[in-house]
Amino acid sequence: MKICIYCKTVDQEKFKGVEHVMPQSFGTFGSETPTLNCVCDECNNYFGRELDQALARDTLEGITRYKKGIFSKEQRFPKNVKFELEETEENGEYGGTMLGGYDPLTGKPIGVIPQFWIKNIKKNKWEKYRINQIRELEISDEIYGSVGPGKREMRIIGSSKNEYDDVLSELKKYKIPYREKEMLSPPPFIEKADPTGKAELRINIIGNINRKIKRALVKILFNFSTYILGEQETLKSAWDKARNFVRNDEDTLSGRFSQEPFWDGQETKHFRFESNSYNIRIENKNGNVIGIIQLYNLFTYEFFLAENYFIPPEKETAYRLTPGKKPCKGIKMKIS
Ligand SMILES: [Zn+2]
Repeated sequence: MKICIYCKTVDQEKFKGVEHVMPQSFGTFGSETPTLNCVCDECNNYFGRELDQALARDTLEGITRYKKGIFSKEQRFPKNVKFELEETEENGEYGGTMLGGYDPLTGKPIGVIPQFWIKNIKKNKWEKYRINQIRELEISDEIYGSVGPGKREMRIIGSSKNEYDDVLSELKKYKIPYREKEMLSPPPFIEKADPTGKAELRINIIGNINRKIKRALVKILFNFSTYILGEQETLKSAWDKARNFVRNDEDTLSGRFSQEPFWDGQETKHFRFESNSYNIRIENKNGNVIGIIQLYNLFTYEFFLAENYFIPPEKETAYRLTPGKKPCKGIKMKIS
């Protein structure tokens, strides 16, 4: 009889699909793609909608998929990850300009997007808005600090006259008192472009790891633990905290993230394995079971899957998953 490892339902009618240990949006791994039969369809659908999409679309890892040739089926841009031009002397007053990131349909980089800036006197910084955010703006002394009439500093940035005009007409429509100025001279990165229009940009990518993203990552680790240890193991109460965090958004699981290499002793700061794979590992550490995950050589996330608990040492396992290839498996070696 099947029991769902997340909600513990025993309704046998609810096990029609399979759960992929690694969400399918990150690819599959041939005939050995790790899947589970012990996640009910209700939980599976809920995860697909709530967690997997957030991980795939709204994280640096998700966006990196596009660069690696895994594209989205629809053009939806991340809300949680921002691309900005670096604040360098070279970029001058364009430092902080918002860029479009990567096109989810093609993986191609998108340069400057039409945008509107207002100087916030209170915070002494420019606040930046996309054209579609203009309608929500409320320009007041309370938010942006007080300045004399007509003295508020504002600017429009776009990569063409058309984009400038689009922002301008949006400002007029919502009665934002922008005093028309000449367009700024073309941004330096456009002048530097080679004849095909390509320019090398130094950009900052700003993201934050919210609860949903954490839950999505813990789900992969919980799935992986079940795949390695069997559902009889992860159904035990030692795993409840992880289960309830993923499924019911209960108490946050402790964890940390770093840019440490994933493969201890094999990778260093300067030497890393190929950046097109996903690394996952479960192990005993300081009296707890820890799950570690890293996608595309980006951040290494560590979570306490089961506290004051341990798994049999021979079950401490690591996988390297590369889309389209069979998983590479490893077990922990004790060198004495
Ligand atoms: Zn369930």
